[in-house]
Amino acid sequence: MKSQDYRILIVDDEPANVYLLSRMLRGSYRIVEARSGEEALAVAHGPDKPALMLLDVMMPEIDGFEVCRRLKADDETKDIIVIFVTAIGDSAAEEVGLNLGAADYITKPISLPIVRARVRNQINMRLKADMLEGMSYIDGLTHVYNRRKFDTLLQKEWQRARRSGKPLALIMIDFDHFKALNDHYGHGAGDICLQQGAAALGSALKRQGDLLARYGGEEFVALLPETDLEGAHRAAEAMRTAVKDLHLIHQYSSAADHVTVSLGVAAAQADETHSASFLLELADRALNRAKAAGRDQTMVMDAALEHEVNVANLAAPEASTDTLATKDPDQKPPLAVSSGAQASGPAFVPERRRYGADPGAQSQAEKVLGALSEFYRWPLTAELQAELDSLLDTTNDLLIRVQAECGSGAAPSPSETHPAQTQSTISNAHDCKHFDRDELMQRMGDDQDIAAVTIEQFLADVPLRLQGLRAAHQAQDVEALRFKAHSLKGLAGAVSALRLQHLAKCLEQEALHLAPASALVDQIEQEYVLLEPLLRAVLED
Ligand code: GH3
Ligand code: MG
Ligand code: MG
Repeated sequence: MKSQDYRILIVDDEPANVYLLSRMLRGSYRIVEARSGEEALAVAHGPDKPALMLLDVMMPEIDGFEVCRRLKADDETKDIIVIFVTAIGDSAAEEVGLNLGAADYITKPISLPIVRARVRNQINMRLKADMLEGMSYIDGLTHVYNRRKFDTLLQKEWQRARRSGKPLALIMIDFDHFKALNDHYGHGAGDICLQQGAAALGSALKRQGDLLARYGGEEFVALLPETDLEGAHRAAEAMRTAVKDLHLIHQYSSAADHVTVSLGVAAAQADETHSASFLLELADRALNRAKAAGRDQTMVMDAALEHEVNVANLAAPEASTDTLATKDPDQKPPLAVSSGAQASGPAFVPERRRYGADPGAQSQAEKVLGALSEFYRWPLTAELQAELDSLLDTTNDLLIRVQAECGSGAAPSPSETHPAQTQSTISNAHDCKHFDRDELMQRMGDDQDIAAVTIEQFLADVPLRLQGLRAAHQAQDVEALRFKAHSLKGLAGAVSALRLQHLAKCLEQEALHLAPASALVDQIEQEYVLLEPLLRAVLED
């Protein structure tokens, strides 16, 4: 998987916005577009399911917040990364969005390089997470699926078989006299044998849905969906032949003068009375028969063997469980006990198994996965939420203290005048250009169209922002003033309006001091009056 393989869905009821974003990201990702919340949800559930959604908030019918809420409530779509792209510039809305599980929040008009960078950051994180997840499913020595992956796949296939009514087959494979091979030819030779053997086993499986996993040590398991006993028998024989045909020398085997495997084959109709481990147990017993009969052969389950397993299960109903985790003899007793509605049957504990898997690595992988799923799969757990809340509280306290320290030891009152140092920063505004066309073009990747759309959005948006700024100042709402100044700074930066950007930055810093803040709001309004015709002139060119 490369980042170019990831799909990004751009959702906005305003065609210009979709055009802009789509055009910018097209070269780097696969782009899908939607013009409404309904359409976005439909795409998320379809074959074009995206990895990331750039989601507008204000849309008729279903708005962006509602789309996000529904995505995160659905197992199928909750892993889609959501970035809100919206003209709403107040902190409350941003908070709502982030609490809904959005990964990021971008305000319009957008700065294209920033959107690109934010999308890239999210996709890179997802890429790494997917790679880690992929690695945690693969056996390091043989590069086939590991036991962990097999366990999940078996459960999944068993459920699927239950729904489809088609049989599911399972083949258990064990290398013959492998201990003797290790003892006489060395562990390194044993490893190479396992690598080549696994490759041969895999190449013998021809159907798309068939899969091979290392079950542990020198044991492998093949899972064959929609396959009956006869089909599985043929596959097993193909695998046995494939290993034989490697002609790997083994003078210490009773079965042959080369490396061989024994195989046990089972197939079953998934039903309510059995769990997936029933299939494992059948195959394992068939494998035992193959070993007892002289090795280097395939044994297929029969009615007598099935009866044997059923009787054994009836004899030990207290061990009943539907979780495969209990198959591992090294593991603790099962925590999960099946409810009445779940399939019952005793835990299957094969006697011969010795697992090569490193338990340290396994728990490490589990930790990484746990953390990742915590990261991606909203909603947060209550625990994590509480932790985040307390972190936010601490940060807030710190901010308040920092503010107090800056105001010469005591918390400054809003009427206090600002330090001389900021005076000079404000007067530095005059050193800045009103607007830098060259810089804007560079930011937009020298694309005139994109720059024009950005300027248009800026002109449409800023007058409203200025009203908000004035209102926040009159209400002496320092927080709102600071936030609005901050977002204005971003908007100004997007069109390279350098002086406005500088003034907004000063206001952000000075929001606490009412007198200079008032002067700054005035200056900002004056600056916009000067700036507007300059930008309109660019549009007319
Ligand atoms: P049988 O024909 O009855 O299966 O005999 P066996 O010797 O194959 O069976 P046993 O279970 O006694 O021994 C399995 C051996 O496989 C012992 C173990 O050291 C070896 N083994 C397990 N994992 C690995 C591995 O990753 N590399 C190597 N080289 N050997 C392994
Ligand atoms: Mg063996
Ligand atoms: Mg073995």
